[in-house]
Amino acid sequence: MCDAAVVDKYIPWGRISMSFLLPKAGNKELTMGLMGGTFDPIHIGHLVTAEEARQQFKLDHVVFMPAGNPPHKDEAAITPAEHRYLMNMLAVVDNPYFTVSRLEIDSQQPCYTIDTVRRFYDLYNGNLKLFFITGADAILDITSWKDYKELLASCPFIAASRPGYSFDKLKIIMGSAFAEVMQRVHLLEIPAMAISSTFIRRRVAENRTIRYLTPESVEQYIYKNNLYIR
Ligand code: NAP
Repeated sequence: MCDAAVVDKYIPWGRISMSFLLPKAGNKELTMGLMGGTFDPIHIGHLVTAEEARQQFKLDHVVFMPAGNPPHKDEAAITPAEHRYLMNMLAVVDNPYFTVSRLEIDSQQPCYTIDTVRRFYDLYNGNLKLFFITGADAILDITSWKDYKELLASCPFIAASRPGYSFDKLKIIMGSAFAEVMQRVHLLEIPAMAISSTFIRRRVAENRTIRYLTPESVEQYIYKNNLYIR
């Protein structure tokens, strides 16, 4: 069902925003996972992570949030946002609990996670419990993220790691902040995270099969649009 208030707030001119597909805010507080990533491309590891987080943390919904203009990355090295957004759409279409948001890709500004989280709480008038889901390595430098203390306080993290992932790297890089940060970070071991976007891009460039590493529709989209060919 479409929430009119949500539509009015987030439809940019000339384009239908997928925000209208976000779950409707009712009387009950909604528990939502915000799945943040570059998704270049989305793969089975991401999907398994989102589904596992949904079940373990009793999430009503998972919203995939492809990063638009990541403040920490060289824009030229990333596949255009529209391609990454469409691949996400293809990948989640058969899961009723998954949605993709255009919020970050439609933003003309660099997107900081705290700003996205604030907008979601605003969108649901606070009637929302939010978890931010991402890769364990993605949060190595979390203490340099904008307003990270407020971010962690308002939104616990679910960090996906491969089995046997060592916390040593996190400990060394975070130093004295490690204990404080880890109070708000839940680590989730995901065997399928042995797959990575880098691995898929490399295989496409080497003309090797990516079948079963990503949904078939995403695989076909990659070939049709000649993505990742050097
Ligand atoms: P990244 O550095 O490209 O990824 C690091 C590792 O985490 C990679 O192994 C990556 O695997 C994995 N990963 C990334 N997203 C994942 C997900 N949703 N589920 C499971 N594994 C995931 O990370 P990134 O994609 O640029 O950033 C992750 C999120 O953090 C984004 O939403 C970004 O906006 C946010 N972020 C915010 C700030 C800030 O606010 N200042 C700074 C940095 C990042 P794959 O390559 O296979 O995905």
